[in-house]
Amino acid sequence: MTKKYTGRCACGAVTFEFDKDPDFVASCHCLDCKKASGGEMATFFGVPQEDFTLISGKPKSHHYIAASGKGLDRNFCPECGARLFTSNLESFPGLVFVTLGSLDRPDLIAPKLEMFIKRRLKWAKPLDLPQFEGMPS
Ligand SMILES: [Zn+2]
Ligand SMILES: [Zn+2]
Repeated sequence: MTKKYTGRCACGAVTFEFDKDPDFVASCHCLDCKKASGGEMATFFGVPQEDFTLISGKPKSHHYIAASGKGLDRNFCPECGARLFTSNLESFPGLVFVTLGSLDRPDLIAPKLEMFIKRRLKWAKPLDLPQFEGMPS
């Protein structure tokens, strides 16, 4: 049986699914999200590791130390290069951070806050959501 939410990379080699509605959904404007996503920001959300199921494909992971000094693995499709999810987050043990655009139905989940707004570019307008200078604590 398919879980409530399904996602895949741009070429379709990597697919995954999960059931739980995420509590933490953030649009992050930090420099790291800009670099990794190639856009002005990245929208992602936390899914419990035990709920997150890889269905097909073998994502490649890139280990990275964030500005906070904590490590994480950024996972992407080795075929098409699409960024998919972040795992082994030292700052958030037990959670996988999934990028919103990876979902088959990205319209099903909306951001609940914006963070690292100090890095938001001048032309980007704030959403009508709680705003955080850096990481919400
Ligand atoms: Zn792919
Ligand atoms: Zn960020």
